[in-house]
Amino acid sequence: MAALIHRPEYAGYDFGPEHPFSPARLEMLLDLFRSLGHEVAPIAAPAATREDILSVHDEAYVAMVEALDQGKPNLEADRFGLGTPDNPIFPGMDLATRWLVGGILHGARMLMTGKERRVLQLGGGLHHAQKDQAAGFCLYNDLAVAIQAFVAHGWRVAYLDIDLHHGDGVQNLFYENDRVLTLSIHESGHYLYPGTGHIQDLGSGSARGLSVNIPLEPFTEAGDYLEAFESVVPRALSWFSPDVLVVQAGADAHFADPLGDLALTTQAFQTLYQRIFALADAHAHGRVLLTLGGGYEAQVVARVWTILYLTFMGLPLPEHLPAVWMDHWRHLLGPGTGRELHDPASAMPDLPGREARTRRNRDVVNRLLDSVRTYWI
Ligand SMILES: [Zn+2]
Repeated sequence: MAALIHRPEYAGYDFGPEHPFSPARLEMLLDLFRSLGHEVAPIAAPAATREDILSVHDEAYVAMVEALDQGKPNLEADRFGLGTPDNPIFPGMDLATRWLVGGILHGARMLMTGKERRVLQLGGGLHHAQKDQAAGFCLYNDLAVAIQAFVAHGWRVAYLDIDLHHGDGVQNLFYENDRVLTLSIHESGHYLYPGTGHIQDLGSGSARGLSVNIPLEPFTEAGDYLEAFESVVPRALSWFSPDVLVVQAGADAHFADPLGDLALTTQAFQTLYQRIFALADAHAHGRVLLTLGGGYEAQVVARVWTILYLTFMGLPLPEHLPAVWMDHWRHLLGPGTGRELHDPASAMPDLPGREARTRRNRDVVNRLLDSVRTYWI
């Protein structure tokens, strides 16, 4: 009932050794699942076709990716968000991204035929890619291609984005589509890339009220985060009653992630994952399609996404990580990494200003709920 999707070619989505979106994270993770004694036999899906990509992206943009991929220099590359520090050009980038898109699309098809109820793609989650532009380490929007396939199948889709950053690409692609609800909980765009995802961005036309953003204060901790999540997400899903839930499960909202300032713990992620699967059961016929996403600290993503995988599979969580695995990956994990699966209480930083932060987060959630109440009827 639960399928994992991955293939070795996903390692080809690689912007180079200095870039944070490193494919070594996936290899490290698969090795960890196996070191914990689990039989892991991921499904190797075919690459997405050009037509699949064109279901959400402009032809001119795809043609530009293909040309640059083949080494043809083009002065207009940066107009398409390509050749920038975030999205460097690399040979093979068109196919490397189509492998990832093909994986999630295969997962979507397994859900549509009823073959599976839960699918997790180990990789992808390219939520910043826009209709006509690369952005934020994302070339083609794998999530949007899957959502578009569900919509073409006649399904209503709820998209939930728990990455640290606003899921702007997915939101923009479906901003006027009343078959798609997008929910993003993230560090406020007033402080962080991509600068969007405010409570007043609610969708347009018949889709007004279907773009829902929960922007949180920097240094928001587990209690406030989960309170905001519970105030909005179950209500939205219950009202919208989707056929499937699509989740971008970035891990960069963890307190130790170097790219942002939210302060979730591994324990908070565990609660969040349990709630996501319970909500899919309650409101989306148990159908859920997940990708990974951001997450830039190796010892954090190893632990957080192992918790995701084990929760997804309904397997018990170990207390410790295997010593042999830690020794093997020490060069990525860093010398100070302990063996505990969960964050020890001592690792959590002391973050002053909690009361003011809680007040501001509650105010944002209340104003959001006041705005959407008119549409959620
Ligand atoms: Zn992110």
